[in-house]
Amino acid sequence: MALVMARPEDQCSTVRAGGCVIGGRRIVLIAGPCAVESWEQMLSLALVLKETGVGILRGGAWKPRTSPYSFQGLGREGLEILAEAGRAAGLPVVTEVTDVRDLDLVMEHAAMLQVGSRNMQNFVLLREIGRSRHPVLLKRGMSATIEEWLMAAEYILAEGNPNVVLCERGIRTFESHTRNTMDIAAVAAVKGLSHLPVVADPSHGTGRRELVAPLARAAVAAGADGLMIEVHTDPGRALSDGPQSLTPGALAEVVARLTPVARAVGRSL
Ligand code: PEP
Ligand code: MN
Repeated sequence: MALVMARPEDQCSTVRAGGCVIGGRRIVLIAGPCAVESWEQMLSLALVLKETGVGILRGGAWKPRTSPYSFQGLGREGLEILAEAGRAAGLPVVTEVTDVRDLDLVMEHAAMLQVGSRNMQNFVLLREIGRSRHPVLLKRGMSATIEEWLMAAEYILAEGNPNVVLCERGIRTFESHTRNTMDIAAVAAVKGLSHLPVVADPSHGTGRRELVAPLARAAVAAGADGLMIEVHTDPGRALSDGPQSLTPGALAEVVARLTPVARAVGRSL
């Protein structure tokens, strides 16, 4: 049976989230904090990120944390804060949906849904998202093969939603220096195997802020259509993922150093 995600000839799809097109010549930057923490945080970040050339604002409202005692996100309030900050800055927003019961609410507030690594094979959620036409960023499961990842995308596509963007976010290996091992080969591989746009997340892919810039360059060189990068105004005080978060100033440097790489592979920022 022919798969919807397969790439016949040289087809490359584009996905539009709000006014932002993913999969065109331009590399899309998705940035924001791991978690929405407050209105003041989101508004100030949204405004500075817009100035830096970010195309989509991110922020988690429901956080799937390893420990049930860690900050779980602000939930509905976080979603409303994120949406309002996006409106104030003129940026579409993406946020993770962890529960199929929240889907309608999240679709109301966010131009793009995120399916997180831990939910990549939540087939009930995938099918339900597939019944809408809402753009979705499908993160790779931390222990998922490329085939399993593409088949998860197929669940959404098969229900009729063509607006799927893949996101490589690192996989579990024996290496412990980095939080995950960023699978750059997977970026190039899925670009060849499917017509879907591909985004790379060097923040979760490495877990270390000093590795975000080099891995962002590597991902763009390998063909990524966009980058997802975690940014916090005060990473030392972040309620989640501080060690991998950049300040807005550091993000601006990443962007400056990315520009020649993008140009070298026929892309712009
Ligand atoms: C996130 O983007 O903050 C996140 C939880 O990512 P992942 O699902 O890739 O761990
Ligand atoms: Mn995070």
